[in-house]
Amino acid sequence: MYYDYHMHSSFSADSNTPMEDMINKSIELGVKEICFTDHVDYSIITNNMEENHIVDYKEYFRKLEYFQNKYKDKIFIKKGIEMGLQSHTISKCEEDIEKNEFDFVIASIHTINKSDLIERDFYQDKSQFEAYRQYYEILYNVIKKFKSYCVLGHLDIVKRYGDLNNIIDDKVFSDEIDEILKMAIYDGKGIEINTSCFRYRLPDLTPSSYILKRYKELGGEIITTGSDSHNSAQVAYEFKTVYNSLQEMGYKYICTFDKMKPNFIKL
Ligand SMILES: [Zn+2]
Ligand SMILES: [Zn+2]
Repeated sequence: MYYDYHMHSSFSADSNTPMEDMINKSIELGVKEICFTDHVDYSIITNNMEENHIVDYKEYFRKLEYFQNKYKDKIFIKKGIEMGLQSHTISKCEEDIEKNEFDFVIASIHTINKSDLIERDFYQDKSQFEAYRQYYEILYNVIKKFKSYCVLGHLDIVKRYGDLNNIIDDKVFSDEIDEILKMAIYDGKGIEINTSCFRYRLPDLTPSSYILKRYKELGGEIITTGSDSHNSAQVAYEFKTVYNSLQEMGYKYICTFDKMKPNFIKL
C-alpha cells in the first residue's frame, strides 16, 4: 500500500496536469492515499520582476473537496501545500497556513535571495562547499522561526542543482545536518523521502541515506513518502524501491497526516 504525499497539479506554476488526472493515475496504480502539495513561493525574481507563485486557495479547496467526495470509495485525498520558504517570507507563509485548514504542509527551500535554485545563480559566485554550507545555514535559520509545517521537503536539495559529478559527502556537513535534524525532531516534525532523486539521476536518495539514517538515530520517527510528481507518469514513482530502503534502514512506520497531525502506518 502506497501513500504519495508530495504531488503537484495545475494549481502549481510548474505543472499543467489537472488534479483529476493525478487522481485517476493514483487509483490505477492502487495508491491508497494521496496528498496534493501544490507550490506556494513568495518573492521570486524572474526576468528582473519580483513575483509570488501562489495558489488560489478558495478554488483549491473547492476542487479538493469535490474530488474527495467524488472518489471517496476509491482513494483518500488530503489537502496539503508545499511552502517554499525564505527568511523574509515566513510571516506571509504562516498567515496562509493559519487561514486555511491544511492536512499537511511541506517546508521547502526553493529560493535563496529571491533567486530560484533551479536558475543556479546561487552557485555562481561560490564553491560547491560554500553553497552547501550556506544552504544548510539558511534552512536552519528558517526552521528556527517557522514551525507551521509537518515535514522538511527534499532536505538536501542543494545537491540537485549543484555539480552532480562532485557531490560533497554528508559527513563534511554532519554538524549542520545534525542541527537541522535535532531541531525538527525537537519540534515534532518529520522529513520526507522524495523520489524525484531518480528523475534527477542523483546517485543517492533524497534526502540521502546518510540523512535518513541519522534522523532515525537521533530519535526521529516521522517520515512521509512523496513522488514530487508534476505529471501523472511520475505518481508513486519508484515507491517500491524507497519503501524497501526504509525497511532496510529499520523504519517500521511511515506517516500520513490529518489536520497537521501524523498517523503512523506500519510498513
Ligand atoms: Zn519542492
Ligand atoms: Zn514539490
